[in-house]
Amino acid sequence: MAVQRPKRIAYARVAQESNALSPVLTTLDDFRRTHFLEGARLERACGRFGFETKGFLRAAELSGFVRAARAAGDAVETIPLFSAWAIPGGPLSRACFETLSDKLIHGLKAAAPLDGLFLSMHGAMTTEDDSDPEGTLLQRVRDTLGPDVPVAVSLDLHASLSRTMVEAATVIASYRTNPHRDHAKTGERAGRMLVDTLLGRARPTIAWRSLPLLIGGGRTLDFLSPMRAIFRRMKEMESRPGVLDCSLNMCHLWNDYPHLGWSTYVVTDDDPALAEALAEELADLAWSVRHEQPPAFSSPTDAIARARAARLARATGAVCMCDASDVVPAGAPGDNTRLLAALLEDASDLRCYVPLRDPDAVEALWGTPNGAPVDLEVGGRLDPARGEPLRVRGRLRGTFTQHGFDRVAVLDLGHVQLAITEGPALVMKPAFYRDLGLDPWKADVMVVKSFFPWLMYFLPYNRLPIFVRTAGTTDLDAAFELPFADPLHPRDPVAEWRPIDRQRRGIAP
Ligand SMILES: [Zn+2]
Repeated sequence: MAVQRPKRIAYARVAQESNALSPVLTTLDDFRRTHFLEGARLERACGRFGFETKGFLRAAELSGFVRAARAAGDAVETIPLFSAWAIPGGPLSRACFETLSDKLIHGLKAAAPLDGLFLSMHGAMTTEDDSDPEGTLLQRVRDTLGPDVPVAVSLDLHASLSRTMVEAATVIASYRTNPHRDHAKTGERAGRMLVDTLLGRARPTIAWRSLPLLIGGGRTLDFLSPMRAIFRRMKEMESRPGVLDCSLNMCHLWNDYPHLGWSTYVVTDDDPALAEALAEELADLAWSVRHEQPPAFSSPTDAIARARAARLARATGAVCMCDASDVVPAGAPGDNTRLLAALLEDASDLRCYVPLRDPDAVEALWGTPNGAPVDLEVGGRLDPARGEPLRVRGRLRGTFTQHGFDRVAVLDLGHVQLAITEGPALVMKPAFYRDLGLDPWKADVMVVKSFFPWLMYFLPYNRLPIFVRTAGTTDLDAAFELPFADPLHPRDPVAEWRPIDRQRRGIAP
């Protein structure tokens, strides 16, 4: 009997979530600053003792894929190409996208012959001139590998599926937690389907639906009503024989893909009719929670009054304020000064920690001796149409260099300690403040610029979360400005999801 050679599967990541309203283009520098690994270094990072994305996750999608491949023993050989991930921001510059996309295609050609590819993407990337670059990239991959080489893709729960993406990929699996905590499991799910396909253990058949739904599902947290029941139903579906995987994508609001919306995607084993039935059922379930809208957010004045009244919360921990209009992991510039201005003006009895991105201010402050008086304008420069700089006076507390943030200058403004970052002010973990010498236990108020993940990381300190609306790129209704091609709930009246779904999937009415 002839010895089977191992199946050769390449793996790579090209991932970023873009905010089409942000004028701050994402460049290769942003990928370099956040995460870029290739070849042997990537392989080590995704191995048993590695750390996949420094400063963020020990094991993410690629580690999950490697785990699935390892479970197949000698039958599979994995080939690390590269992994590029940047913190959310504005659309990618054309040059940045072309460089990453060329690099992937060259990598595939150099690694030939390949039997399969695992590709980790976000699913809500845009560039300055392409609203579906992930579809473009997957189409290039498909043209390079040919029609028969299976390609497995992992996506964020906030992805939007395009027809091009669905048709170019063999299987797709997306996160099923929000805040996201199943990166590695998602990679493993997609990886297992890929390995099983290559080893002849499965013949994936897929179905999907695309809903004209922008905002629904309440807070959209997977463990709270109404989404909990839908995610539980997906688990039940997967326990049925013949069902390989189910995903529900809730899209990223500030994305200018013209056919944006929630989508469902189901993979079965050689059973297209079952895939169609389940994708349809999930779409109906998602549509049924469209009227549950997220809660309204506080104004800065109300937020400060609530923080002041929350004596017990402050005595046992801190009040955490999310600047919901300037959420960096949703692509906002992170330089909105309105909450800072309100805290400086109206919260002199509260000790506050505030982050702000301003590369120019960091440059101006670099080299200033610690303790020196400072008087300068900060913030409001990256998105001048939406923000304005704020003049602050105090002293320089210290300067630091932090992974992902580059240079950071901390100003002592009296009751406010202001951390000015050169890179995106992605304050998701309390370690950000701790590493700058700001003890979270001593704060009354800590400001974050993240929607969900910070809730997990700040758990030891956070006694009262307050979401504050300050007018910016990540206001929910700011997305309504974008040029969508279809009517979308809740911006427009939409009676039925099916006709739009059929158009999007290219099916005759
Ligand atoms: Zn997400």
